[in-house]
Amino acid sequence: MLIFDMHTHCFPDALAPKALPRLAEISQCPYYSDGTYGDLREKEFAAGCAGLMILHIATKPTQMTSVNNFAAACQKDGAYCFGSVFPTAENAVDELHRIHALGLKGVKLHPDYQEFFVNDPRVFPVYEAAAELGLPITFHAGRDPYSPDVVHCTPKMLAEIADRFPTLTIIGAHMGGMEMDADVEKYVIGKPNIYLDTAFATRSLSPARCGELIRRHGVDKVFFATDFPWSTVVTERTLLEQTGLTGEELALIYHGNAERVFNIALSE
Ligand SMILES: [Zn+2]
Repeated sequence: MLIFDMHTHCFPDALAPKALPRLAEISQCPYYSDGTYGDLREKEFAAGCAGLMILHIATKPTQMTSVNNFAAACQKDGAYCFGSVFPTAENAVDELHRIHALGLKGVKLHPDYQEFFVNDPRVFPVYEAAAELGLPITFHAGRDPYSPDVVHCTPKMLAEIADRFPTLTIIGAHMGGMEMDADVEKYVIGKPNIYLDTAFATRSLSPARCGELIRRHGVDKVFFATDFPWSTVVTERTLLEQTGLTGEELALIYHGNAERVFNIALSE
């Protein structure tokens, strides 16, 4: 089976030794890499991936240029990247145009680390520009240990944006809402312009529940993803294999949907 991992992370070599332990302390989560690009590639391909998407996050306005330049440098030989903007930065829309010009595949926003609510009108120009440029946005959706008491992207907010920006392609990470599957079911399931990724689904969903949400949302609108280095291909595949989805359905989730949406041709 061809496998494309739609949600992975790495850091520049100089930052990785500090960044990963710090994030692990916040999230109280074990990790499976030294955080570098080289190690990410090695482990993902060794685990059977034919390609992967690396999602980068700018946690300060001043980081946007360097983060997106790093993303562009990472994008080669089966690795594709989403860039990032700090959405309340003055020059966020300009940076979106640069992301587009660099040939990056989309934009990752992490509203907990970037300190905004996804339905805040201040960031609407970013959604508008992303829609115009044809750049999908992956949102960290649902709970995050970094901000345990305040959820900055609830499934309800995600649905609100989807309605307001019908031409924007939205990807709700973590099955549309980490640890919030009842709200995902209520608000997100069936929205035509929302895709879901399965990143770290093992953290809060049983295989049966995950399979149920996937079927109801549409097997053509879900991407296999791990959230590596916070989980692994083996772990997240084990869950998907137990969902009861057919081989044909799984083929879409493992690679077909990513190939179609991102215009990527994968080979063994
Ligand atoms: Zn992630």
